[in-house]
Amino acid sequence: PQPHPEVGAAVKAADRAHVFHSWSAQELIDPLAVAGAEGSYFWDYDGKRYLDFTSGLVYTNIGYQHPKVVAAIQEQAAHLTTFAPAFAIEARSEAARLIAERTPGDLDKIFFTNGGADAVEHAVRMARLHTGRAKVLSAYRSYHGGTQQAVNLTGDPRRWASDTATNGVVHFWAPFLYRSRFYAETEEQECARALEHLETTIAFEGPATVAAIVLETIPGTAGIMIPPPGYLAGVREICDRHGIVFVLDEVMAGFGRTGDWFAADLFDVVPDLMTFAKGVNSGYVPLGGVAISGAIAETFGKRPYPGGLTYSGHPLACAAAVATINVMAEEGVVDNAKRLGASVVEPALRELAARHPSIGEVRGTGMFWALELVKNRETREPLVPYNAAGEANAPMTAFAAAAKRHGVWPFVNMNRTHVVPPCNVSEAELKEGLAGLDAALSVADEYTE
Ligand code: PLP
Repeated sequence: PQPHPEVGAAVKAADRAHVFHSWSAQELIDPLAVAGAEGSYFWDYDGKRYLDFTSGLVYTNIGYQHPKVVAAIQEQAAHLTTFAPAFAIEARSEAARLIAERTPGDLDKIFFTNGGADAVEHAVRMARLHTGRAKVLSAYRSYHGGTQQAVNLTGDPRRWASDTATNGVVHFWAPFLYRSRFYAETEEQECARALEHLETTIAFEGPATVAAIVLETIPGTAGIMIPPPGYLAGVREICDRHGIVFVLDEVMAGFGRTGDWFAADLFDVVPDLMTFAKGVNSGYVPLGGVAISGAIAETFGKRPYPGGLTYSGHPLACAAAVATINVMAEEGVVDNAKRLGASVVEPALRELAARHPSIGEVRGTGMFWALELVKNRETREPLVPYNAAGEANAPMTAFAAAAKRHGVWPFVNMNRTHVVPPCNVSEAELKEGLAGLDAALSVADEYTE
């Protein structure tokens, strides 16, 4: 990349003057001006290059600027840039077919949205209308999106400011052995006690008032906690027994991230509704959706579904999805995530954990890994307190700054860093990124006791 600092300065100045950024105190942020990106890398206007260990917001599963997907978007733009959702359009039909062929079980009908949050909104609406019930259960330590119902479902501090109306959401604890709410010492205990806790929550809420249980198959932003064997099957059984709709949110975990097309495949579980977005077209054009079971689709067979969006199944977004899914199949991207996750990432992270006292736990699968950073391995006290900001968050800020100095853009959330590069990352890129993390972890180590 050629440096163009004067262009970067103008981009930055207009951003600071006019762009209002998500989730931020506007005067306290300093966004990097990005000049370009390709594959697993992006670069700024000074010509400094970063290896993107975040895949954007965990969505560029095929990396930046894949030439086949860019060409497909260009062709669709030349042919039919946009068309209203009530018509049958080739790109939309083909995207729905390719998605439905990959979703588990009988999730064969696809309702397209503009992203993940609105997919969650619509899944909840479908569940309420299907069951005639109002309440929705979701987990603490979750993220389901920034719109009203989706943020109510979310189990992290981003919910708090918008929780003036809870919209019928009740939160419960999902399994997470490292920080067990159930005093469990084994995955079996954690699983059994988490299911018992969910069952009790439903009993006390009134089973006939609960429309849906919404879970990320593997919670993403909240920390990549792989559910213990039997947990999701247990939730499925509870839902069946009480006539509750089981919604799996695969917005982050879906489309190759876990080394399978969907994380549900890892657990052999079939939900009634499944939300997706991000990896469906690597975010090249905004797209999300809900995959719908036969029974729920039938509810809206003769009765209209009361919901829609101007851009539902936008041709540009759908053409990008068709090209992305075909590229993933042709280039073995899902298999790459599984193979390099197991052969390169996992052993490297375990080796880092052996040398860095700040690593409390390594967990993940595919290209979906978390390092839980702690002050003290014995007590498991997090490296920074829950929802820390400013000075209290200094150890994580210092860790992230060190990673960037070493050319790796790290994913950081609370006391964790996630290793979530594109699913088609190469072995050499992974080794380069892991070496940068190694150096940054030495900075985190300085804050341990
Ligand atoms: N659900 C999950 C599991 C997510 O990770 C996200 C975004 O990170 C969302 C929903 C919301 O998606 P979007 O930001 O596209 O609205």
